[in-house]
Amino acid sequence: MKLQVSNTNAPAWRDITVKSELPSKLKPLEELAKNLWWVWNSEAKALFRDLNPELWRSTGENPVMVLQQLSSERLDEVIADKDMMGRLKHVYGMFKDYMAKPMRSDIPSVSYFSMEYGLCNALKIYSGGLGVLAGDYIKEASDSCVPMTAVGFLYRYGYFTQTLSVDGQQIANYEAQNFNQLPIEQVMDANGHPMIVEVPYPGRTIYSHVWRVNVGRMKLYLMDTDFEMNSELDRPITHQLYGGDWENRIKQEYLLGIGGVIMLKKLGVNSELYHCNEGHAALLNLQRLVDFVQEKHLDFQVALELVRASSLYTVHTPVPAGHDYFDEGLFGKYMGEYPAKLGISWNDLMNMGRENPNTNERFSMSVFALNTCQEANGVSWLHGEVSKKMFAGIWKGYNWRESHVGYVTNGVHMPTWAASEWKEFYAEKLGEQVFDHQEDPEAWKGILKCTDQEIWNMRMTMKNKFINFVKRDFKAKWLANQGDPTQVMHVVDKINPNALIIGFARRFATYKRAHLLFTDLDRLAKIVNNEQFPVQFVFSGKAHPADGAGQGLIKRIMEISRMPQFLGKIIFLEDYNMIVAKRLVTGVDIWLNTPTRPLEASGTSGEKAEMNGVLNFSVLDGW
Ligand SMILES: *Cc1c(COP(=O)(O)O)cnc(C)c1O
Repeated sequence: MKLQVSNTNAPAWRDITVKSELPSKLKPLEELAKNLWWVWNSEAKALFRDLNPELWRSTGENPVMVLQQLSSERLDEVIADKDMMGRLKHVYGMFKDYMAKPMRSDIPSVSYFSMEYGLCNALKIYSGGLGVLAGDYIKEASDSCVPMTAVGFLYRYGYFTQTLSVDGQQIANYEAQNFNQLPIEQVMDANGHPMIVEVPYPGRTIYSHVWRVNVGRMKLYLMDTDFEMNSELDRPITHQLYGGDWENRIKQEYLLGIGGVIMLKKLGVNSELYHCNEGHAALLNLQRLVDFVQEKHLDFQVALELVRASSLYTVHTPVPAGHDYFDEGLFGKYMGEYPAKLGISWNDLMNMGRENPNTNERFSMSVFALNTCQEANGVSWLHGEVSKKMFAGIWKGYNWRESHVGYVTNGVHMPTWAASEWKEFYAEKLGEQVFDHQEDPEAWKGILKCTDQEIWNMRMTMKNKFINFVKRDFKAKWLANQGDPTQVMHVVDKINPNALIIGFARRFATYKRAHLLFTDLDRLAKIVNNEQFPVQFVFSGKAHPADGAGQGLIKRIMEISRMPQFLGKIIFLEDYNMIVAKRLVTGVDIWLNTPTRPLEASGTSGEKAEMNGVLNFSVLDGW
């Protein structure tokens, strides 16, 4: 895969990281910074922000970096500040109470495997909705006391950050992450050395470090191969999310599934259920089969029954082309030893990943997942139907309607995605218990008693916050990258709180049709230039570096935004991420969603908009 435009910088830190000691009175901050509970606890988040608002923003909302960079004068100031210390005591107390709640023991424990997790902006291990969903799942599991352990990768370069050139070309910047500056902790062995997981690859062992992300009561374990024990060829396995060629992809999926199961064993985590979030992780079931056959001396068929009975696969992709397939040759290069470990033939193994056994079809990770997981689901009702049809060929002789493939409508984690202002509003009007009973329509009834004026005031507060965010954070970026300062000032000045602001932000995959609005430019010009009812559009989103068409869409929207009739009326915000997403879904008036039905398997950003009183205007697709 050739990356069109990308900047990859070499790690820019030095070998020695001096960790300054926080004064003992502020030690609780350190513990709070290393647990992502702050992401969805507004008071904790505000506390970190108020330590130094400038640093909070410049570090991309990273509390660990804020603590590392606070001056000693500021630290003394905070200790002397009764209000700040009172808030710290209160927040720390809430955290301790939260952590002390016992886990449920009446339901099975789960191991959750995913290539990406969108938990907070500072942890660049996500690219889009699939990751944000996985992150929200962990948070919700923590809130609901569901015993879950999650497995993923700590990427050195993560997913790229986006800048746009003057002519609208997307530039992908891969920034090396300094793991010591992230809200994570390295897992150590009994001797106090970094724990090393040994993963057998053909002809060599690949070693992985293990990092723990504390997500409230849950633990997310991340693997990382970028250190000196691995060869130059293997260190990059965990460099990039969805980067590299097919060989790198199979090395990644091998590490995630097979390495992930080996890691959990080493950590002593023994779950009752295993969840593959998308087919990427499905090889976890291959390793589980091997363990049953080799350690429990079970027959392959018996092992398969046990694995199947305890596995679940969630499919997110409604088109076959979006699934992973490996050529037999490449697959054989990595998996060649597995049939012998299982007591089956090579052809038996290949057939587990083929819709039509005994053909020369490539190995499909989705088919393998379906053959080794008893339960499978799409991510909305419609996507469930689409998935039944898409997978119909696997169960020959059955009508697709009889398929057991079901659906679970994707949701979002409300405490993360509702603005703190709205959370206070809900608590005041509906009572705190609404957060524990979000699924109960009764709990929401009180909202009907709120006056239009109350709701509108909330909306205007959030809209003004959004406009300030654009003015502050984007002016600097635009001035840096997009030349002409007078034009930039012109655009910034034109953002109008009295205009109807319509937002569209998501990955720039072509099926999402960001371009749909621009099919009739004359008509659009009339709409946005109506003086009596002004309308403005705000766009944001990244295209995958290998997706030329997606990047073309961004370029086209940038071009249109520079036309005189659209200047300041169509605005593109660079570098869509979780911070930008939250500002948008809380701050615009209307959230626009125009995918080609039924290709938006779920899409969740509209749910985020609605819990913030923002109207969702959408093609009838997904959730
Ligand atoms: C919520 C979210 C998504 C998913 O939104 P869709 O509606 O599925 O496009 C993607 N990226 C970010 C940063 C998000 O916060």
